Amino acid sequence: MVVIEGGEARGGKWEVGSLFVYPSFSIVPGLQRGRPQSTKAAMNTRHVFLALCALPCLAQAANTGSPFYGDPPDAHHPWAVHDQNRPQPVRVEPGTFSTQEQPGKPPSDAIVLFGGQASDLDKWQADKKPAEPTKWEVKDGILQCVPKSGYIRTKEEFADCQLHVEWSEPADISGESQGRGNSGVFLMGHLEVQVLDNYNNPTYADGFAASLYGVNPPMANPLRKPGEWQVYDIVFRKPVYKDGKELDAGYMTVFSNGVLVQDHTPLEGPGGHHNRSKTGPFPEKGPLKLQDHGNPVRFRNIWYRPLPKRTIEGATEGALSEEATNAKRAEIAETVRADAAKLEGNAKTLRQLESLVYATDAATLKEATGSVEAFVAAVKALPADKLGSKKSDIMTFHNALQYLTKAKDLPADFGATNELADIVKTQGWDKKK
Ligand code: MG
Repeated sequence: MVVIEGGEARGGKWEVGSLFVYPSFSIVPGLQRGRPQSTKAAMNTRHVFLALCALPCLAQAANTGSPFYGDPPDAHHPWAVHDQNRPQPVRVEPGTFSTQEQPGKPPSDAIVLFGGQASDLDKWQADKKPAEPTKWEVKDGILQCVPKSGYIRTKEEFADCQLHVEWSEPADISGESQGRGNSGVFLMGHLEVQVLDNYNNPTYADGFAASLYGVNPPMANPLRKPGEWQVYDIVFRKPVYKDGKELDAGYMTVFSNGVLVQDHTPLEGPGGHHNRSKTGPFPEKGPLKLQDHGNPVRFRNIWYRPLPKRTIEGATEGALSEEATNAKRAEIAETVRADAAKLEGNAKTLRQLESLVYATDAATLKEATGSVEAFVAAVKALPADKLGSKKSDIMTFHNALQYLTKAKDLPADFGATNELADIVKTQGWDKKK
């Protein structure tokens, strides 16, 4: 049996050595193991029968979509393009949008911090040490700041999140600039997204409603009239530091009444009044705070969704370092091999070949290439008038071998690849219609 000898794994790829007659492995597991022989001699009647019996399995594999289709993994992308192995997105039941008359429903995975119940106040406390119950009030499903009672903070602490907050200014206009309907949403207890009645009320731009207070003004003013409900949707990522070095400044994206007003704005530390904020690490988690600035601002429908880690924190989506990519590719290959072990016949072989897309493995390569040779031999043993009935299966293997060869996951001179290509060409199946 002709296989490749002298190859070795380098950087997750198989590099070809030279051709040898492989001493011992069976084209059908369990058969003739340990007996060196030519491919032709090995293809006894039983082999042909078993290899062809496995052909129907290909139809099932094809139903899941071809794994040998999009560009293969590379040094910074562990997943092939359109990879069927990539986990499906987690199902989330969407919520509903709010109206002025009533708040919408949060998505199914949201953690509700205030949903209109008086008991929701138990999730909050006065922002004091030691903590004590807040004097803010819940009336008619609305949380209202009681001026001079102090900030409130959630008992729960969290960091990176999608945050939804609705707020409403007093309809009876009072004060000006920073004195008109001032409150604030403080991510992790530090960074304020300003709440202010700026419907018709100029103030300094970096203190405007939806500003990152003291850091960055909003890009627009889409506020509604005081008395109406305003909606903030915020995406918050905290700074990431390692060994004192900043890996990611952190950032904030804010939609105000559905209008983008902060576009991935880099953080500059915790923000603040009067003094320029300085970059630096944040704690792991912190509470959400709402500000008492002396105005009876109202809130409703407050919820958040925790966000997954970024790649810089170890997540494996997106472009990765070579080290992280190789680790993930090895993990994917192992998962695919484990799945292959549950299959039989050609479906197993195809899955084994698929694992080689991610990382080479000598035992898998040996078994899969042996099985491929058995398949090709079985096909070649068919009467000419039966070949057409196996076209789909032949093309599946042909495409797989072409893909793997192009990606250098199989040796360029693997004989079965060329033998199948010859069959495809002779039959005219390589011609595009
Ligand atoms: Mg404020």
